[in-house]
Amino acid sequence: MTNKYKYFIANWKMFGGVKSVNLLNKVIKFSKLRKFKYARIIYCPPYTLLHDFVLKTKKNTINIGAQNCHHSEIDGPFTGFINSKMIKKIGCKYVIIGHSENRLTGENDVLLNRKIKSSLRNKLKIIFCIGETYNQKKNNMTKKILRKQILHGLKNIKNINNILFAYEPVWSIGSGIIPKLKDLKNNIIYIKGLLKKNFKLKNSQVLYGGSVSPNNIKELKKINEIDGFLVGGASQNPNKFIDIIKKTFN
Ligand code: PEP
Repeated sequence: MTNKYKYFIANWKMFGGVKSVNLLNKVIKFSKLRKFKYARIIYCPPYTLLHDFVLKTKKNTINIGAQNCHHSEIDGPFTGFINSKMIKKIGCKYVIIGHSENRLTGENDVLLNRKIKSSLRNKLKIIFCIGETYNQKKNNMTKKILRKQILHGLKNIKNINNILFAYEPVWSIGSGIIPKLKDLKNNIIYIKGLLKKNFKLKNSQVLYGGSVSPNNIKELKKINEIDGFLVGGASQNPNKFIDIIKKTFN
């Protein structure tokens, strides 16, 4: 079964300043069009902008998420970090966990599992990123890696209804290269099968991320099993982001 809602997640990474909140004006207007009522839009700006973005989207359907969180939900001596409780309190509904740019800095499955648990306890929805590196793909290890990331990342978590999965091949992020459609479909179906078998999740939501742009979205949307897109670079430009959403539904 394909989900009628499609998610569009804007991951701004380490970009944006105090005036960036104004870039939401166009997207807010767009989000009110009935024609696109099945688009679920989530903005994940840097921590410094979370509060402004939450205030700006209070009266519309756009939701806000953080790009990461500390694994401890108890406040403490962790210089430079914020936790899931703080993210929830500020008004965010989502948090990205497991982005490959953070896995690269040493975030492993055990740590990610702790972050997921603390975020779930704080009633945040999670965007859990998984994906293989180029070398792993070349060595036919994609499915093994996806399986490991999912099973270890979600260890001892029974209810995963509040987790969205973002399949992001590491080699595709920021490179302008997207997977072959056949491989992509195959991997999305594999992830959904794994979630069904191991977590009894019948209706999982699995997104794709990696160089999504207005130029390739018509290709990507051919894969019915994809429930939305995690968009990095292109999401910083509201026209491009809107174009991606429009082309997904047209
Ligand atoms: C991302 O940061 O999750 C991402 C998919 O980036 P980009 O769209 O720029 O490849």
